[in-house]
Amino acid sequence: MSINRREWLARLAAGGAGLLVPRRALGAPAPRPQAAPAPAPAPATCPLALKDFQPRSMLHVAEHKVERARFPVIDVHAHFSWSKGEEMTFLATPAQILPVMDRKNVRTMVNLTGGSGAGLAQAIRRFDAAAPGRFITFTEPSWHRVREPGYAQWQADEIERAKKAGARGVKVLKTLGLFLRENGTAGPLVKIDDARFDPMWDACGRLGLPVAIHVSDPEAFFTPIDRFNERYDELGNHPDWSFHDRDFPSNAELLAARNRMFARHPNTRFIVLHVGNDAENLASVSENLDRFPQHVVEFGARIGELGRQPRTARRFIEKYQDRVLFGTDAVPPPDGDNYPQQVFKDELYEIYYRFLETEDEYFDYAPAVVPPQGRWRIYGLGLPEPILKKVYHDNAARLLGLTS
Ligand SMILES: [Zn+2]
Repeated sequence: MSINRREWLARLAAGGAGLLVPRRALGAPAPRPQAAPAPAPAPATCPLALKDFQPRSMLHVAEHKVERARFPVIDVHAHFSWSKGEEMTFLATPAQILPVMDRKNVRTMVNLTGGSGAGLAQAIRRFDAAAPGRFITFTEPSWHRVREPGYAQWQADEIERAKKAGARGVKVLKTLGLFLRENGTAGPLVKIDDARFDPMWDACGRLGLPVAIHVSDPEAFFTPIDRFNERYDELGNHPDWSFHDRDFPSNAELLAARNRMFARHPNTRFIVLHVGNDAENLASVSENLDRFPQHVVEFGARIGELGRQPRTARRFIEKYQDRVLFGTDAVPPPDGDNYPQQVFKDELYEIYYRFLETEDEYFDYAPAVVPPQGRWRIYGLGLPEPILKKVYHDNAARLLGLTS
């Protein structure tokens, strides 16, 4: 007599264990044939589209809401403006940003995309000058001029002028390496280690301006957008973020070009954003930290990566506790709503704080119904206080020359 567990449990519920003993053996009359059990109800929609799959965790585990960071925070990675040449688009006013900072214990925010020339002056007036000590602005190179004769020296001099205007560092977007081409938008891509930028990197070192550099992107952006891609939802929402195919270099080639440039500029300080732009591979990030002592890393928009490898991530931060900076890559709404892992609001900071301060398990890394970067959840690191203080504040304060 074969019976599966579900049938057995159903029969128990219907009439007791006696049904398991063949009644004929007890001398009872043969039972009348019974109707087969009803099949399990089909899901409301079958098959279910991936976009509609929103499983809710049934885990009963501790949840700690961390409303304020345990120490004052310097957020070194935010975008309150975008620049096109010297033309600026501002995404928020200080009056919109400061209340969130105050509630979340963020002392200072660094607006990395502060533009150049007249645009930079405008950004500094709008933020740094309006609320001294609360905002810091970085300048950006003028990539569109790269083919002009004399660009290399002009760009180095321009960085010096930017410093005089109040810029506290330089931001390099992934424009360099992935978008900038010899003829603007056509021709071969300009390499990260192109010699035309050498005077600029040197100027940054000489002037004490740290360079926040974004090179490459998540590894999955370099592989096909197919069923094997762990960022399938994200690339479906932003297909233009894919660097698979066409003439793009591989992730490894981009990082190698960056490293060749680092090797030529040992006296320039770099903040390598997004965990050295290789958050999936902390062994490699560690190797680079050991090899190039002039750089530190920041983890904006990558707690999704760190938090799914919490033991490796904690060991990494413990080992490099003087070289890891707090950043969120925050973009104010409504623009930021397109990137839930970066949207500047209270919930974003609460998730970062929970990740760093607690040992909570399996929680969302972004305020969104579907995890926006990949369908997984994260685990808190529970960092000890001395490390938290360095990561939240002291490491950035030292690099940026802040006294408070
Ligand atoms: Zn960014």
